[in-house]
Amino acid sequence: MKSSDILVVGCGMYGITAALALRQRGFSVAVIDPGPVPHPLAASTDVSKVVRMEYGADLQYTRMADRAIDGFEIWNAEFDEELYVNTGVLMMGRSPMRPGDYLYESYEMLRADGHLLDRLDGDEVRRRFGAWSTGAYVDGFYNPRGGYAQSGRIVAALAAKARRIGVVIHPGQTAADFVREQGRIVAVRTREGMTFAAGHTLVAAGAWTHHLLLPELQRILVATGHPVFHLKPADPALFTSPHFVTFTADVAHTGWYGFPLLREGVVKIANHGVGRTLDAERDERVVDENDLAQLAAMLAETFPALLEAEIVYTRRCLYSDTPDGHFWIDRHPQRPGLTVAAGDSGHAFKFAPVLGPLIADVVEGKANEWAAKFRWRALSTRSVSEEAARHQPGASQPN
Ligand SMILES: Cc1cc2nc3c(=O)[nH]c(=O)nc-3n(C[C@H](O)[C@H](O)[C@H](O)COP(=O)(O)OP(=O)(O)OC[C@H]3O[C@@H](n4cnc5c(N)ncnc54)[C@H](O)[C@@H]3O)c2cc1C
Repeated sequence: MKSSDILVVGCGMYGITAALALRQRGFSVAVIDPGPVPHPLAASTDVSKVVRMEYGADLQYTRMADRAIDGFEIWNAEFDEELYVNTGVLMMGRSPMRPGDYLYESYEMLRADGHLLDRLDGDEVRRRFGAWSTGAYVDGFYNPRGGYAQSGRIVAALAAKARRIGVVIHPGQTAADFVREQGRIVAVRTREGMTFAAGHTLVAAGAWTHHLLLPELQRILVATGHPVFHLKPADPALFTSPHFVTFTADVAHTGWYGFPLLREGVVKIANHGVGRTLDAERDERVVDENDLAQLAAMLAETFPALLEAEIVYTRRCLYSDTPDGHFWIDRHPQRPGLTVAAGDSGHAFKFAPVLGPLIADVVEGKANEWAAKFRWRALSTRSVSEEAARHQPGASQPN
């Protein structure tokens, strides 16, 4: 039996940022994870995640991302490493931007919030970013604020810091069920036979959350798998920032986005679309012929110079998806002593510096200017994602 003020189940981005924030508020904190940390199958364990402020007309996400970028810059200084790489983001569309669409609403929102953006047409993109094909992309903009986060390295750095300030991380421990006393959650038993007692338990188990611990959320949280590709370009210079930057390629209508040449020597391209519903525990996470064919079609239209590039790695990575695309961060309404932080819906990593304190506020029952959007809420499975960049064929685009 181990005990602490707070037990955190899951050591991905949600878990470790919350554990740090709670420890800095003076609580004793333990974290359990099947491990190793960072866990190779965790969504947070990756070479890069887009950091963008472009959220259509959604002011809250725009502001959260803006503040998170300040946080990433503080981490860069604190850890003396460029964990967040400010390449800027290039947001291009295949049709002129117009009111109601993702690019137009993002452009107007950011300008109204005082950000200086470069509006670009097809020729200007071609001139500044030579790898882009001519013709297909006709309108969009470059935002110098934004880029990508080296997510796996960030989780590793935060876990090391957490250990330094007294958070006890237990890799090799998989939460299996809860221990209750008078209806209150007072401990967690693990598959490995340990019991972790705590005054309050935070479940931040990503795409595994509803599988393992909270069947009542199975109607709300769904694990969806999304393809990721690493390509080795024949001409790396063409794909190196600033000649090639973090981008979205008409993402709201295609799902495609990607990154300049990364330290691993690859260009990473992925798709933020509907994905495939999977069981986080049992199902294979592989990219298939159909995914490869869709990638080839995208490259032919957008980056012909990558058509012959060797695909050196692929992965199908999991979102903890909510029907409306907003995160799920709240105290459990029927189970005192328990908070759930999940439902990342494929877009939470960019908020890491602000999500830790937000989750900590929710655990403590304190007010937080942004928490209401992520509260425990009634949702129908027919709801569509309100996250403006998410490509949802057939669904009318939220602006
Ligand atoms: C393909 C893909 C691309 C993405 N791109 C972006 C992007 O460009 N920008 C962006 O902002 N976000 C992006 N995201 C989203 C981002 O990765 C997630 O929002 C974030 O990483 C979620 O963190 P998490 O801590 O909730 O989950 P995870 O990182 O998955 O962590 C969950 C942890 O819980 C542990 N766990 C599971 N079950 C148990 C158990 N029973 N007991 C104990 N521990 C357990 C796991 O081992 C894991 O370490 C992307 C996600 C995917 C899948």
